[in-house]
Formats: sequence, structure tokens, C-alpha cells
Amino acid sequence: MVFGLCRLFVVPLAESGAVILEISDNNIGKSVGLESETTESVIRVQNLKHSYGSLSVLQGISFTAYRGQVFGLLGANGAGKTTTVRILCGQMAYESGLVDVLGCDPCRDGGKLRPLIGVMSENPGHYERLSALANLVFFARIFQCEEPKSRALELLKLVGLEDKQNEPVSHLSKGMHQRLALARALIGRPQLLFLDEPTSGLDPTAAVKVHQLIDKFCVDGGSVFLTTHYLREAEELCAQVAILNDGRIACCGNPLELCAKYLPPEVERKRGGRWVHQAPGLEELFQYFTDRSIGQE
Ligand code: ATP
Repeated sequence: MVFGLCRLFVVPLAESGAVILEISDNNIGKSVGLESETTESVIRVQNLKHSYGSLSVLQGISFTAYRGQVFGLLGANGAGKTTTVRILCGQMAYESGLVDVLGCDPCRDGGKLRPLIGVMSENPGHYERLSALANLVFFARIFQCEEPKSRALELLKLVGLEDKQNEPVSHLSKGMHQRLALARALIGRPQLLFLDEPTSGLDPTAAVKVHQLIDKFCVDGGSVFLTTHYLREAEELCAQVAILNDGRIACCGNPLELCAKYLPPEVERKRGGRWVHQAPGLEELFQYFTDRSIGQE
């Protein structure tokens, strides 16, 4: 890897004391406030450990996620991301450590936590023979929505599946399944969304729509815990990321701050068949901490 000149500009804001990094011509974004919009935590994890038999997957991980933000958990295949999500949602017990999600221990207070969260997982378990609409109406009833059908229709429209409302779920494409799973995660109007690889299998337009939904959800006060292999997606959405490697958190913080802290100001990347110099992003950070680039996992 070749490193070159800096393209970062630090702008101190006298009144607020905040610092904004403006980065031109790079892959991270145009201008981003580095201060947390809120300091209210929605997830606190301290020294969390979990093993499957002799396989120690989480070896004492700690992090905090804040209200109104997207927190991204990154890691190679098998790093333990889904295991972490399942523990945080109360879907499985953990070995030891402290886990606090919206003031609940997911293990002990599952009944209190479940109405507050929405979960979009890889295998959402839709009823394949029922229509998309019937599936959502069913879950709207479980969440005791006042008007299940209108809530279901509203969400089908939100994820762009209104044309498919009467199709059996078994007839939907993979990307449509994903969008239906997102609609289902939103049905109970959760405060906190867990999204496990939400754009896997989506075409670029559908992925952008999901990003817009996530942004709007956070602007409206919601919080998101995201796992993804798409590092550009994490750069765009996440106020904070943690990289999970060998059972431990290798680094945790704002993507821009982490890149500025650990990486040189410029790297050489292949773009359009040519090598160009750019400010580093999460791809380089991921490589730095895991010693593998995506695609070599
Ligand atoms: P991916 O990016 O491929 O989805 P991940 O980071 O989500 O991976 P996990 O699914 O949490 O990883 O798996 C972490 C490790 O734990 C893997 O080695 C996996 O084989 C193992 N594992 C996961 N679930 C179980 C289980 N129920 N029993 C035994 N081992 C498991």
C-alpha cells in the first residue's frame, strides 16, 4: 500500500467548540460533525463473552451505542456479528458480561425489551404461502397495532412493495424478501432497530432507498444497530463503528476519527482500472485491523 498527501481540513467552530472535518474528493462524505448528537446510550456492552462449546467467539467485547445514531458492527465472516445481534435482541443467552439495551438486560427482561425493538435478520421466517400483506397484517396484530391492515399497507408502500402486496412470499425475489423483512422490523414502531446485513442482495436503487429509510428513522429519534460487509454503506450511515476481530473489538469510534487516528492521510486505490491517490476509508481501516480485504475472507 502506498500513502501520499493529506486532504483533510480541520475547521474549529468557535461558538460550539465542535470540530468538523471536511474532506474533498474522497469516499467518506462531504462534511460530517464529529460530536455525538446525543450522549444518551441505547446499548451498553461491557466485557461480553460467549462461546459455542470450545469455540470462543466473543472474548470480552465492550462498546456503547447512542440514541439517534447508527452504530455499525463490522467483521469478517464468522467474526461474531450475528451472535452479538442475537444476544442484544434477547434471542440467545450470553456467557458473561454486562449487556444493557434500552435499560433492559435482554436475557432477563425480554418481555419488556421486545416491544421496543425491531429486528431484521437474515432468516426472518415469513409465512411463504401467505401474501406479503397477510404476513405484515399478522405481525401488526402481534404488535397490537390499532389498524393492522392500514399499518401493513403503509409499510409495504414505504419499502416499495405495494405492487406485490397480494403475491405469496414464496414468489418474491431475494431483494423483495429483504424489503419485507425491513417492513416487518418497523411494524411495532420500535425505538431501536437491529439490521443484520439489510442490503445484502439488494440492487443499488433499493439499497439507496433502505439507506434513506435508515437516515429518516434516526432523524425521527430512532437508533440503529447495523451489521454489514459493505464498508461504503457503513461510512455513509454510521456515526460509530466497531471492528470485531479474533473475538475482540479491534477499534471503535467515528469512522473519520478512526481513519485519521490509525491511517496515513492518503492511500493508493484502484479506480476505473487506474491507481489513484485518495483519503483512506473503512476499507483500509478494516484491512489494517483484520489483515484481510473484503473478498479475501
Ligand atoms: P457472517 O459475516 O458470515 O454472517 P458473523 O460475523 O455473523 O458471520 P456468527 O454467525 O456470529 O458470525 O458466527 C461466529 C462463529 O460462531 C462462527 O465460527 C460460527 O460458525 C459459529 N457459530 C454461530 N452460531 C453457532 C451455533 N449455533 N453453534 C455453534 N457455532 C456457531
